[in-house]
Amino acid sequence: MAIAGGGPAGAALAIELGRRGIRVNLYEKKRHPRLKACGEGLLPHGVAALCDIAGLPDAPRVRGLRFVAGEASADADFPDGFGLVVRRDWFDCWLFERAAATPNVDARMGTPYRPEGEPFTVGADGRNSIFHRRFEVRRPGRTRVGLSAHAIGLEGVNDRVEVFFHREGELYVAPTGGGETLVAALFHRERFRRDGITHLLRTIPAIRDRARRVELTSPVLAAAPLGLRLSRVVDERLLLIGDAAGAPDPITGDGIAMAMASVKPAADAIVSGDLASYQRVRLAMGRNAERLGRLLLAVSRAEGRTAHVLLRKRSLVTTLLDVALGRQPMNIRTLVKAAL
Ligand SMILES: Cc1cc2nc3c(=O)[nH]c(=O)nc-3n(C[C@H](O)[C@H](O)[C@H](O)COP(=O)(O)OP(=O)(O)OC[C@H]3O[C@@H](n4cnc5c(N)ncnc54)[C@H](O)[C@@H]3O)c2cc1C
Repeated sequence: MAIAGGGPAGAALAIELGRRGIRVNLYEKKRHPRLKACGEGLLPHGVAALCDIAGLPDAPRVRGLRFVAGEASADADFPDGFGLVVRRDWFDCWLFERAAATPNVDARMGTPYRPEGEPFTVGADGRNSIFHRRFEVRRPGRTRVGLSAHAIGLEGVNDRVEVFFHREGELYVAPTGGGETLVAALFHRERFRRDGITHLLRTIPAIRDRARRVELTSPVLAAAPLGLRLSRVVDERLLLIGDAAGAPDPITGDGIAMAMASVKPAADAIVSGDLASYQRVRLAMGRNAERLGRLLLAVSRAEGRTAHVLLRKRSLVTTLLDVALGRQPMNIRTLVKAAL
């Protein structure tokens, strides 16, 4: 069988299938290491799934998140385990090499996928999958744009991923090791600006003093439009995984973790032929992430006093974290419990 796309989803699935004795041709059109626009945070449930599939990469660990809105802030530590900050050029290459070293996997870098009459294909080719023409794909009404880069000279970076909510956009800061920091920003299209990362670093009061000596060390990469929903992710001879199967707004920080968590259900479905079971699990994950994304966007848009009140509501912050970690479903009951 063939896997189109050698990013985290495709490489991890190739490892899992190869280990189960299934012969896989893994196609990656680019050459690793390559940079990728991303916030580079891997949430603990994604770390646990990755460990099971490929082992633990040597990447900086984080113990939780820190949300900041205006003068309010809230720390939310992961109840179990730790997150990782995975520099995508390094991480994607590490995982692809592990796939290439797995028995039964023929990993072909620099080779775009072309159908060769395989009995079964996996689409792991990201947000702009070539397989989307066969499926109904919905995108959010308001276009969102993401930027990411790396920097040195940012002071006070610690072992929590920092998320700054600001009326112009959201800014993410996370340690990537060796004194370098990931800096990413998300915008609604009408607020987007090319220099958005440095602009937010200079504009957000809670970080601008720490950012006086910042120098970017990698090119600023952009991705748009963000957010993508599918109502089906399998057909008779095809299964979609990772962003190809639907990508929540990156405000959830959940894309890679969701890809990792879908690998075993996908492999089970391919081995047993019960593709519908995978579809159920993957669509449920996607719905949860999407609802979480909508709520976080609402928090982000809430300015001044509202954001302040939301972040001060400890039970809401821990519930949002639980939902992001897949420990609670995102529904009305969860929200009501959190609000009481
Ligand atoms: C700004 C931004 C911030 C983000 N922040 C986070 C975060 O903090 N945490 C998180 O978990 N997620 C985050 N995400 C989401 C995360 O980047 C994705 O969920 C993740 O990359 C999905 O992995 P994937 O393997 O499905 O797809 P991709 O990483 O997109 O990999 C797909 C691969 O397929 C290859 N390909 C494409 N077409 C073909 C073809 N025809 N033939 C062969 N190969 C092909 C591509 O070259 C690519 O290497 C963010 C995304 C953005 C845009």
